[in-house]
Amino acid sequence: MKKLMEMQADGVEHEKSDFLQPLDSEIQTWMSKAFDMALEALENGEVPVGCLMVYNNEIIGKGRNEVNETKNATRHAEMVALDQVLDWCRFRDKDPKEVCEHTVLYVTVEPCIMCAAALRLLHIPLVVYGCKNERFGGCGSVLDVSSDHLPHTGTSFKCVAGYRAEEAVEMLKTFYKQENPNAPKPKVRKDLISPPDGAVVIQVKRGPQDEERETIASLS
Ligand SMILES: [Zn+2]
Repeated sequence: MKKLMEMQADGVEHEKSDFLQPLDSEIQTWMSKAFDMALEALENGEVPVGCLMVYNNEIIGKGRNEVNETKNATRHAEMVALDQVLDWCRFRDKDPKEVCEHTVLYVTVEPCIMCAAALRLLHIPLVVYGCKNERFGGCGSVLDVSSDHLPHTGTSFKCVAGYRAEEAVEMLKTFYKQENPNAPKPKVRKDLISPPDGAVVIQVKRGPQDEERETIASLS
């Protein structure tokens, strides 16, 4: 029984992907725009990730990281673009599921676990991405949210990986090399405590600003 269900799911996925399989020239065009978005993120002190969502050859959502600007760790490029897609559907009185089932997402970095789950739940069939996201990737790098058999969790999706990957990595490296202007100044208290055996222990106390800095450091 389980095997039959998997076969059916697999058949549906292939049918959709074949229908939506973009040409190399289309990938080039849309990814170029996604990279423009990533560059805009970099220029605005954000982790450089850019993304586009394309339906019937039309951009219906686009986004870049807005995590630092909004102080909201969930404002990844894909989430920003998804919100625009939902607005696009609302204004045109279209069913988001029907639209998303025929929408391709282009993004410069592999979607993280959170974004991959959102894409599954919205039935996006195909994701084209640049470099891998070794720390948070949800399309095979950390978890395989994109293709795992997850009952009642949307539809699995196909990925085309590695387009302009080196360039995407270089942008991330550039971001992490420069000082983040949005990060609050580190304020670490060091208290010296003398334990009974005479050794000196340095205790580092965490302040609330440390949590924020970790949020800012999260990728894509
Ligand atoms: Zn994400």
